Amino acid sequence: MADTPKLDRWDREHAWHPFSQMQEYCSWPQLHVERGRGCWLWDTDGNRYLDTNASVWTNTFGHNDPDLNAAVTAQLEKVAHSTYLGLSHPAAAEFGRKLCNEAPGNLNRVFFSDNGSNAIEIALKLSYQYWQLQGQPQRKRVIGMQGGYHGDTIGTMAAGQSGRFHERFSAWFLDSWHFPAPHCHELNGEVREADANTSLSALEAYLTTEAHNVACLVIEPFVQGAAGMLQQPPGFLKEVERLCRRFGIHLILDEVFVAFGRLGSLFACTQESVEPDFLCLAKGISAGYVPLAATLIQDSIYEACLGKWTDDRTFFHGHTFTANPIGCAVALKNLEKLKDLVSSGQLAETIEYFGQALAHNFDKHPYVRTIRQRGLTAAVELYAGEGKETWSIEARMGWQVCLAARKHELILRPLGDSLLIVPPLVISEEEIDFMCDRILRTLDEVLGEPPRAIPCKFCGSPTLNQVAGEAVCDPCYVERGACCAD
Ligand SMILES: *Cc1c(COP(=O)(O)O)cnc(C)c1O
Repeated sequence: MADTPKLDRWDREHAWHPFSQMQEYCSWPQLHVERGRGCWLWDTDGNRYLDTNASVWTNTFGHNDPDLNAAVTAQLEKVAHSTYLGLSHPAAAEFGRKLCNEAPGNLNRVFFSDNGSNAIEIALKLSYQYWQLQGQPQRKRVIGMQGGYHGDTIGTMAAGQSGRFHERFSAWFLDSWHFPAPHCHELNGEVREADANTSLSALEAYLTTEAHNVACLVIEPFVQGAAGMLQQPPGFLKEVERLCRRFGIHLILDEVFVAFGRLGSLFACTQESVEPDFLCLAKGISAGYVPLAATLIQDSIYEACLGKWTDDRTFFHGHTFTANPIGCAVALKNLEKLKDLVSSGQLAETIEYFGQALAHNFDKHPYVRTIRQRGLTAAVELYAGEGKETWSIEARMGWQVCLAARKHELILRPLGDSLLIVPPLVISEEEIDFMCDRILRTLDEVLGEPPRAIPCKFCGSPTLNQVAGEAVCDPCYVERGACCAD
């Protein structure tokens, strides 16, 4: 067994973790994941945890899946890496072809890279290059949507808008503008609130005067993950597509998070028959096994970059591990398995159960302000209760809950005071029940058992209100006045 205290020390002494205030990280208990199987992870002391975060939204078929392992091993025994710069290899050829065949519209070209930020960065650069080649070099502005997250490189930070995360670097950003996000609240297949008009009319007004300076619009379809699973009303994406077509700008869909089954289908955009100019993929593409990303590109953009070497139309971009063979081999197997999971109806059943379980356990829970869920994505927004003050930032309440959840065998990840729930696609009904039960127990432990509603002494309806030590609901109180306890 691993020497956990030694690992703790090495980690504290040398590691710098992403998105972490290291002073805080070093003061919290550490957790070293040693192995995994299915939806479970084990730490170096042998404790198990349900991976409710799919190892940062990447995992599709669970950890240590025999089929995916076999695909990796088979490729490993041939070659681990061979450059894609001027050479090709069978795994990339086969995966690229299958991916393009599945993709909508004329997205017939794939440009491989190794993470989501790069997949977006490639689309942005190609869009800009395309407009230059068309004799419209003034088209360099990027439109993004408020709250969008497209990665942490300079270009993708500008396309996104993640407030505190990226604000510091804004002086270095390329030219961008952001339109307001729509409003939507969806849970368990039911759209409870939706407003797209403010957002769409702002975008339309902007394009009416500015479109000639704009290269492209980039958006996360249906769910803005990193913003806290913020949702879009039905039909919204289709309207955005129409506006892009009407004003002649490129549409870049960032499906880094929402593709590969996350919302129930291989690609999300097909749910509204949207055909983007660029489709950016990463995270689930390689089942959460190894880094891989792809930018799918439509024919006319590819064709615009064709010409003699001296024509200066070449796309000068590449990464050392572009189209890594192990990544492509595991992605190919993942794609095959995913098609079965979708066509068998199994994924739809899991999503339905997930939505019902979350609605049943957390909708109207005294410590839950709201819960959004679509596909296998959910955000549970916590608060101290109706009428109570919000927690201060220093309280780090989301983190307190997630740290406590480890003792209840859950790996959970917060965003502010929300819990973001993104399980592997193969989570079972029993595991969903386990997850809900353990989150409830954790909330009881950290926030105290919530007050339980008891029947009103007059009408019997459940209430939290008390008058002189007796339960009296609001309507009865209003009807009977202050003397109602007598
Ligand atoms: C994670 C994510 C990215 C960035 O991907 P990396 O692999 O972390 O660079 C971009 N867009 C969306 C929607 C994401 O969720």
